[in-house]
Amino acid sequence: MIDLHTHTTASDGTDSPFALVKKALATGVTILGITDHDSTAGWAEAITALQPQIQLVLGAEISCLTTDGISVHMLGLLFDGEDGQIQQMLSDSRDTRLPRMRKMVALLQADGFDISLEDVYQAAPDQATIGRPHLADALVAKKIVATRDEAFADLLHNESKYYVTHAAPTPADAIATIKSAGGVAVIAHPFASRRGQILTADLFQDLVAAGLDGIEVHHRDQNAAEQQVLTEIARELHLVTTGASDYHGTGKLNSMAENTTHPAQWEALEARASARRVVKL
Ligand code: AMP
Ligand code: ZN
Ligand code: FE
Ligand code: FE
Repeated sequence: MIDLHTHTTASDGTDSPFALVKKALATGVTILGITDHDSTAGWAEAITALQPQIQLVLGAEISCLTTDGISVHMLGLLFDGEDGQIQQMLSDSRDTRLPRMRKMVALLQADGFDISLEDVYQAAPDQATIGRPHLADALVAKKIVATRDEAFADLLHNESKYYVTHAAPTPADAIATIKSAGGVAVIAHPFASRRGQILTADLFQDLVAAGLDGIEVHHRDQNAAEQQVLTEIARELHLVTTGASDYHGTGKLNSMAENTTHPAQWEALEARASARRVVKL
């Protein structure tokens, strides 16, 4: 089983990188993508959990904004982790998440919620890319909401008055940077309609021109009709199709390998990277 999109405590997942690989082994995953938000901080620990039955596809899920202000997530896989340009892009993105979190906390405080930036930092593991899930966890710890899910549904969703964006590259810039670091670029859950504004089909043309390699089709936030449209777009544009769980440990309902990538699609995707960078024993 091939699951190319998961999170660890290096961003907003709840399993450590080591625990994630063990969980994948126990689930029967043979090729595992590790894609923390705007970070490669989990890679080294994940490698220490390697076993002969599993191969690692190291990557990151890069937060992007279109020029129209629509949030897009771009999966970069199999890039050279030592590449300075991509590491700069990731660290710029992480840096802007801190003033952004300060603003979201200030908006909540202004409406009388008893929450502080310190509470958010306490809810986040060391080294984690700070995101709304940590704010959600802080709200749970303060008993303002019962669960992460409830925090998102009531207070933190993309259309909420408390939602603030952070500076981020455009999807085309992220693709160019991933490609110049030798990796492959797969747009994550493009039709995830519950996240607010969704992408129109013609945007894909521009992303292909920038070097897009694949579309994440099979993902729980896209219904069957949406997956069918995406499959058709991928066929027309000669893109690889992937499926993945977007597993976050106990932080989200997604269970590991609930969606997977077809082996032939994985082979086509891997062939588009500049080098064989799958990590195995
Ligand atoms: P941010 O990157 O800070 O904007 O936070 C976005 C992240 O929040 C997404 O990538 C998901 O991992 C997470 N997320 C979105 N919706 C939910 C939800 N309903 N429950 C838990 N986590 C969510
Ligand atoms: Zn996440
Ligand atoms: Fe995402
Ligand atoms: Fe994700």
